[in-house]
Amino acid sequence: MIPKMPRERNSKHIKNLSSILEKVPAAALFSHVSPDGDSLGSMLALGLALESLGKKIYYYNAGPIPENLKFLPGVDNISNLWPEELPEVLIFIDCAEAERAHSTINSEFLKHKQIINIDHHVSNSKFGTINWVDPKAAATGEMVYSLLEKMGVPISYDIAVNLYTAIITDTGRFSYSNTTPDSFKIAAQLVKTGIDLAGINHIIFERKTLPQIKLLRKALSNLELLHNNSIAVIVLSRHDFLDTGADENLSEGLVNYARSIEQVEAAVLIKELEDNEIKVSFRSNSWLDVNQVASRFGGGGHVRASGCTIYRPLKEAVKEVITALEEALNIERNN
Ligand code: 5GP
Ligand code: MN
Repeated sequence: MIPKMPRERNSKHIKNLSSILEKVPAAALFSHVSPDGDSLGSMLALGLALESLGKKIYYYNAGPIPENLKFLPGVDNISNLWPEELPEVLIFIDCAEAERAHSTINSEFLKHKQIINIDHHVSNSKFGTINWVDPKAAATGEMVYSLLEKMGVPISYDIAVNLYTAIITDTGRFSYSNTTPDSFKIAAQLVKTGIDLAGINHIIFERKTLPQIKLLRKALSNLELLHNNSIAVIVLSRHDFLDTGADENLSEGLVNYARSIEQVEAAVLIKELEDNEIKVSFRSNSWLDVNQVASRFGGGGHVRASGCTIYRPLKEAVKEVITALEEALNIERNN
């Protein structure tokens, strides 16, 4: 007997969604670009559960799938080709905006379908016909767990691997400030299915390829500290990626080295993906709201972890990002 999770604030959404999903014959599931363990793990867990109820499920990610997530059960079902015939129900998982799943999705497209938006980003734009957004959930995986529990779907080993990966990714193995008693309670239920905790943690957090280590060396040598060490900046150019042989998605986690330095409040990783396409990852330690900083550039995320893409040359983007952080640190300090 699985004990009930204390998620009263979500109970209306969960009840509504479970009655809708029980009835639908098919659904297409969408996760965000540059996918992480939460977006893919939550999508796969929900999809596997719905498949176990006899539904036809399409899984979409703009891809590519990072090497360290290729072990997730069901990952081979994920396509980077847009489903030719979309079912009536589209479910967006862990996407603060519909465009996070695919750049061509616009309001015209969204009008024609039942759009279910399941997410935990505080910046979520509520683009769906049904919006279940819970910023208190540490991972979207926690929300999916609560939904499956309500639907009475047994948590299989494969579903548990996906949800556990989702939760450890977004809580940094239960260490970030978003971690709650629910994170542990849900994880405890998942662990009961016999999943290989050490193995999953090793793949997600410890195992590195040689290009990843070379990229880490490059990132550390490029690291700069500003304003009495309150801001830490790592810039990685196209050249750095070519030099190390590392793929762009292998930079996951590097920003945490910048954040880990004593005194640093704001850490930022600035990556040049293409000429004039700069991906930025913001992190803060104790008080700065980096969701607000990212939103100045059209991005978003969480209070302590956010991101955006800036379509400018690298040098200009670096300057703008540093200025925005300087302003945010000053503004908040003066408040
Ligand atoms: P990361 O820096 O690891 O890519 O992302 C940190 C957090 O910010 C994640 O929750 C991610 O979903 C969110 N995020 C990253 N980039 C963007 C973006 O361009 N737009 C929005 N809305 N959120 C982002
Ligand atoms: Mn997430």
